[in-house]
Amino acid sequence: MIYQKNNKTLKIMVIPLPPPVLSLVIPVFNEGSDISKNLQTIISAAFCGEDKPMEVIAVDDGSSDNSVATILSITQTDHRIRLIELTRNFGKEAAIHAGLAAARGNAVIILDADLQHPPELIPQMVELWTRGVLVVEAIKVNRGRESLLSKFLSHLFYSLFYFFTHLNIRGLCDFKLLDRHVVDTYLAFPENQRFFRGLIGWSGYPSARIPFKVGTRQGSGGSRWSRFRLLGYAIDNITALSSLPLQIVSWTGAFSLLLGIIIGLISLWQKCQGIALDGFTTINLLIVIIGGTILMGLGIISHYLRRIYEEVKGRPGYLIKPRSNREHKQ
Ligand code: UDP
Ligand code: MG
Repeated sequence: MIYQKNNKTLKIMVIPLPPPVLSLVIPVFNEGSDISKNLQTIISAAFCGEDKPMEVIAVDDGSSDNSVATILSITQTDHRIRLIELTRNFGKEAAIHAGLAAARGNAVIILDADLQHPPELIPQMVELWTRGVLVVEAIKVNRGRESLLSKFLSHLFYSLFYFFTHLNIRGLCDFKLLDRHVVDTYLAFPENQRFFRGLIGWSGYPSARIPFKVGTRQGSGGSRWSRFRLLGYAIDNITALSSLPLQIVSWTGAFSLLLGIIIGLISLWQKCQGIALDGFTTINLLIVIIGGTILMGLGIISHYLRRIYEEVKGRPGYLIKPRSNREHKQ
């Protein structure tokens, strides 16, 4: 860099800081003051020695509580922590994407802010990575405290997901270590609407798995996912990785056509034989079945159409607040 002072030209050598070995990406949404304690717990559990410097990227996903102020106050004393603020709530997938795009580490670990992903596993994950594993996945051996209905619905989702995509993601969560190569590949995917877990499974990099027990949530309030939001998320994730539902629509259409031809032939034959048909029930059933099938088919097609529409628009999946905006507010 060339710098001028008092008519003298000075040449300054700028030596860029080496990138941190490890980046932790933590999505945050309305975690309240607990985020301070939780971040400190994560950092002390993650510490892998001076030879592996780390950075912690807290991605605020449009919190409306004091999460941002709390994180900002710890960034003053701990320079390993960086805050990225999204302009509004874009959802956890977008927060993970923003964190991965900002991470500079040779290995990146993604984990929740509420300590349900035990940070004590981090050194073990890093150890596996130093031995050459590109993806280390933490796998849930229990699902924490959940109602029977939630357990049943998640079981149904994983079964349907496997049926449609042939990817077994049962027990997997977003708690993962990714090598820099995998992060770069993930960031290079052109799609905006992403299912992190599914896409990493789809990419098929050699991976190792570490089992863990889901603890209780350490943070304000309960889970940020309502059942309705989870349903939308489940449908989006299946259709993100499978077009089988569209093929099912075609098969159902072909089957209905075949059935129609058979029933038409039978009716013609009965007419020729002069047999009167008291077939109101049959007609009613046919109307209901065929009408329902057509509407369901249209619903599935319009869902894919919506996804294509969203992708074609090419809008970014998230937006980040400029730094100056935050500084003005302080
Ligand atoms: N989260 C987020 N955006 C959202 C919802 C959640 O960034 O819209 C974060 C949240 O702060 C936490 C993680 O995602 O760090 C998991 O959320 P939560 O604990 O509510 O989900 P669950 O444990 O029920 O899967
Ligand atoms: Mg949680």
